[in-house]
Amino acid sequence: MSAATADPHTVVMKFGGTSVADAERILNASKRIVEAAEAGSRVVAVLSARGKTTDELLAMAHEVSERPHPREMDMLLSTGERISCALAAMAINDLGREAISLTGSQAGIVTDASHTKARIIDVRAERIRDALDDGKIVLVAGFQGVSTNTLDVTTLGRGGSDTTAVALAAALGADVCEIYTDVAGVYSADPRIVPDARKLPVVSFEEMLEMAASGAGVLQLRSVEYARNYGIPIHCRSSFDPGPGTFVLDEEQTMERPLVTAVTHSTDEARVTLTGVPDRPGIAGEVLTALAEANVNVDMIIQNEPESEGSMADMSFTVPRADLPGSLDALEAIRESIGIAGIASDSSMAKVSIVGAGMRSHPGVAAKTFSVLGEAGVNIEMIATSPIKISCVIHEEQVADAVRQLHTAFGLGADAVLPEDPSGKHRPTVKTGDGEA
Ligand code: ADP
Ligand code: ASP
Ligand code: MG
Repeated sequence: MSAATADPHTVVMKFGGTSVADAERILNASKRIVEAAEAGSRVVAVLSARGKTTDELLAMAHEVSERPHPREMDMLLSTGERISCALAAMAINDLGREAISLTGSQAGIVTDASHTKARIIDVRAERIRDALDDGKIVLVAGFQGVSTNTLDVTTLGRGGSDTTAVALAAALGADVCEIYTDVAGVYSADPRIVPDARKLPVVSFEEMLEMAASGAGVLQLRSVEYARNYGIPIHCRSSFDPGPGTFVLDEEQTMERPLVTAVTHSTDEARVTLTGVPDRPGIAGEVLTALAEANVNVDMIIQNEPESEGSMADMSFTVPRADLPGSLDALEAIRESIGIAGIASDSSMAKVSIVGAGMRSHPGVAAKTFSVLGEAGVNIEMIATSPIKISCVIHEEQVADAVRQLHTAFGLGADAVLPEDPSGKHRPTVKTGDGEA
């Protein structure tokens, strides 16, 4: 990755699907983009596909093919964001500013060749810089790039426009990457499930990484990794309200955290259980290698040592639901050579997690989490922890209740006292639509 060259006052503004869903919203986003340019910034805007376009394109693919070819899937999915960008460029031109829309490939987003979940490996932003130098507003189609090996169009995985935006912010030396979305920022839980969830003024990269990894889809995990690696502050905010949202920053720039910052959840989990697995060195490595070669991201893994000499082990792990068919294929292929007795799977699992930098130094958080779930009649099927996160795999139909119970039990509701940004720099000063300062 080339080092960022400082272009003064460059701002990257990313608008998500809901924020460009119809003509009125495209016009609204275009006005905000023009306002930023009028205020003197060089503006690059990254747009997502409109509304449910990506879901509709996926459904279209599955109407004609049981397992759509990944290369062709990317050709199809990448069109959604191109539509948004071309429309916004037209609207911006009508507002009196020159604008140009670019595909990911034209914008210099270079990725590896793993279709439908490609990683950005370079950003060659010369064309964007030239257009900015000419006084243009640049619209970049999010969620896509081009593979250097194959020269094919790739996509970056669901929510990938966030990563496009952060990668461009890093390459252009932008001060901040603004993520405009349909909520006012990052909340203490998904506001769709927990009505009294609180908007968090500041979140550390570390916490946001755990939150994104455990299902807080408001920012794509890779965008947070990228922002942390390149030191790009993210400002996640509402595309409808002018007030400030949530700043995602280095830990030193945040202050001491409460015990628990957020409760997150994911309903995108599938569990695979291997039974009768030979108990000898190297087996877990072979299983995980087969899954890695199939490009499957394994999350929680549980394996117990067999009780008696010579007996077989069981091994369970979770994978993203969409990767279940690919995982089962990969496992079937090694089943005989390893000598695995059975492969079972359950695709209706979910995960509830609590995240907080403060829990690192406080015992008892896990005990409280499990007790709260127990009292709510929620059976915990798997558990995984990190120093600042506790995750429980549970059944999907219980997840909303589990999130609400934990959110209340850890005092995260409307009466909670939120930490403020110690520098005051990022402290919200404007009343926002959700009624908090
Ligand atoms: P966009 O289309 O703008 O990228 P997304 O749907 O990807 O928007 O992300 C925003 C959504 O993320 C919100 O509508 C909200 O339901 C969901 N969400 C999940 N967890 C959280 C959280 N902790 N804070 C805020 N939003 C969250
Ligand atoms: N349109 C893509 C999706 O729905 C990418 C994005 O919106 O970030 O996942
Ligand atoms: Mg998103």
